[in-house]
Amino acid sequence: MTYGAPCAAEVELAERVVAAYPAVEQARFVSSGTEAVMSAIRVARAFTGRDLIVKFAGCYHGHADHLLVAAGSGLATFGRPSSAGVPEAFTACTRVLPLDDEAAVAELFGREGARIAAVIIEPVPANHGLLPQRRAFLAALRALTHQHGALLIFDEVISGFRLGRGGAADRLGIAPDLATFGKVIGGGMPVGAFGGARVIMSRLAPDGDTYQAGTLSGNPVAMTAGLATLDLLSRESGWERLENRGAELEQLLAPVLAEARFPVHLVRVGSLFWLSFHADGAPRTAAPLTADETARFAALFHALLDRGIYLPPSAYEACFLSLAHGSAELTQLAQALREALATIA
Ligand code: PMP
Repeated sequence: MTYGAPCAAEVELAERVVAAYPAVEQARFVSSGTEAVMSAIRVARAFTGRDLIVKFAGCYHGHADHLLVAAGSGLATFGRPSSAGVPEAFTACTRVLPLDDEAAVAELFGREGARIAAVIIEPVPANHGLLPQRRAFLAALRALTHQHGALLIFDEVISGFRLGRGGAADRLGIAPDLATFGKVIGGGMPVGAFGGARVIMSRLAPDGDTYQAGTLSGNPVAMTAGLATLDLLSRESGWERLENRGAELEQLLAPVLAEARFPVHLVRVGSLFWLSFHADGAPRTAAPLTADETARFAALFHALLDRGIYLPPSAYEACFLSLAHGSAELTQLAQALREALATIA
């Protein structure tokens, strides 16, 4: 199942990625989203000859040590700023900023711009709830990185090949220098990918001086699963159908949520959605929930489970629609949600 050398399916899948995502002229496959991000950051540092990486609070980029700071995902669930087992020295080159705040980014570039290798962001942050950003904020990241000779990395591990063939970059009309992929691109097999402009990617070994490799990377089974998934999404208008499913869900849930006796907001981008329990409205930054708000989510989670619906078991986890969800499932969710919300004080 593995050659430890390139295979035809790997080349074919890379060609699909390049055709779908204009910012990616060359791509390389790995076995997880974590590895994709680690590799993209290494090549960004090599290309720029700089050390600092800027990330945003609430964005998750896998479990590499230097990115496990204010990382959302499971850490948010347990209210931890970082993980045990990560020495401070390993995160010394990581800078963390709040989302939705271009002034903070400009200020950091003003101070340390000449040392910043890359800014990495989930263009549609989905690991601390779903926190869609203003396009102007992402455009400011694009402009500031350009201006200071740093790279912009879009972590599209969730959004890539989900929000459309061209991911969030296409939806936003903003091209990053490097992008990372995972999840959908492997059709359920362990696959990640990263890519960008040829001039950056050519720094990778064996052509360049930046080492990156993986025994299982690009193996024919995983690559074939990825190709089959992208084929199916194309053939069956998958992206359009997912978008329509999301819109249908929004229509079904709006009246249900309006009836709730406490604030609960639906945030949706395509087939990604999140129920925000924040009393003062759905946030655009990684805002923690109060104990009361978290307790309401827990009550709703169990009331839905009793009715046959299994939400992700954390108030900070986004939900995903798949092509297997039809109108019947969406109606079932709306009905169960109406009943479940009524049981919560
Ligand atoms: N980046 C993002 C945006 C993710 O959501 C994830 C996983 N949830 C990762 C990176 C890491 O991917 P993996 O779990 O495949 O290592």
